[in-house]
Amino acid sequence: MGDLLILSNKSSGEDWATTLPLDSLTTFEKVERYGKAKANNKVVVEYLAELLDRDEFALGMVNPLIEKIYLRMDKCASWLTFREYTEHKKVTLRQANFCSKHLLCQACAIRRGAQILQSYMPKIEHVMQSEKLTPWLITFTVKNGECLGERFKHLECSMKSILANRKNVLAGSYGYAPTELSKVSGGVFAFEVPKSKDGEEWHPHLHMLALCTTKPEVGHVDPKTGKGFGLRKEWFDITGDSFQVDVRRQEGQEVINMACEVMKYAVKFSQQEPADTWKAFQTLNRKRLLRSFGCLYGVQVPDSMLDAPLSGPYIDRMFTYVGGGHYSAVSVCDMRDHYEAATS
Ligand SMILES: [Zn+2]
Repeated sequence: MGDLLILSNKSSGEDWATTLPLDSLTTFEKVERYGKAKANNKVVVEYLAELLDRDEFALGMVNPLIEKIYLRMDKCASWLTFREYTEHKKVTLRQANFCSKHLLCQACAIRRGAQILQSYMPKIEHVMQSEKLTPWLITFTVKNGECLGERFKHLECSMKSILANRKNVLAGSYGYAPTELSKVSGGVFAFEVPKSKDGEEWHPHLHMLALCTTKPEVGHVDPKTGKGFGLRKEWFDITGDSFQVDVRRQEGQEVINMACEVMKYAVKFSQQEPADTWKAFQTLNRKRLLRSFGCLYGVQVPDSMLDAPLSGPYIDRMFTYVGGGHYSAVSVCDMRDHYEAATS
C-alpha cells in the first residue's frame, strides 16, 4: 500500500477529499500529487516568513521556534526518490526530506495518512472477518465556537464520556444508562478542525470508523425538552450544546474507503487562510488526533515517513521541486541488471 490518492469533491474542494490508497499510481502520478501538496506547503511557508519579518520578532516577542519550523517546512519534500519494483509493479517512496509537521504541511499530511491506513487495515479486516462485524461511519460534532482550544477540549471530553459509558455498560457496571455505542466492538476515530463555512468560527468534529454487531441507532432529540432516544439523545445529554450525530455507510462502500474518510487530513489546507492553519497547529500540536478503542485498540503506527522496502529488481527515480507545484526528474538509477546479476 503506498501513498494516498486525493480525490476532489466538487462540492467542497480538495482537502475535504476522500483519500484512496492506490497501488496502481505511477511514479509520475505520485510526483504530481506531491507537487500540489508542496505548493500548499509553500503558502504556509510564506506566511511564516511574514511572521518572521514583523517587527516584534526583532524584539524577541515571537516564539523563535517559528524560524526553526519555517526552515524545516521550506526544505520539506524539496526532493523525492521513488523506487519502482518492476516485478511487484509497485512504486514506493524510498527517500525524501520531510518536515513531519503534518498539521501544517500537506505533503507530510499525505504521508501520515498513508502510514495510518497501512497500519490499521490488516487489523480492521481481521476483526471484521473473525467477529462478523459491520463497519459504520459515525460523525460527532459540537457547536461551532471562536476559541479552538476550548471547542476541541469540549469535543475531546464529551467523547471520553460517551466511551467511558460504553465501557462501563459492556463491563456490566451498575448504574449506567444503556448506550448505542455498546453495539460497537471497536473503533478508530480522528478529530477534524476546519473553520466554519463563513470562516468566522471553528467547527471541530470527529469521524469514527465503528465496527459493529448491529447498526447503532442515531435517533433524535428535542433540544428544548431534552427528550429523545439514540445517539443524538446521548450526545446532547453529554455535550449540552449539540445533537449532531450521523451514522452512515454508502451502498456497496468498501471498508478501506470508509477508513480513508476517517484518516484524511485534520485541517483543510486549501480552504482556509494560512493564519488559521498556523493557529490550529499551535493549539493542537502534540495532541493525539487519532484514537482507537475496543477491538481496534493498540495498533502501532510507525514513525518512519518512508515506505518499507520490498525485494526484487528496481529503478530509482529522483525528483527535485522546481516551484509552481512541479517537480523535475534529476536522476534515474536502473538497478534491474545489477539485481539479476547478484541473484543469478
Ligand atoms: Zn512537510
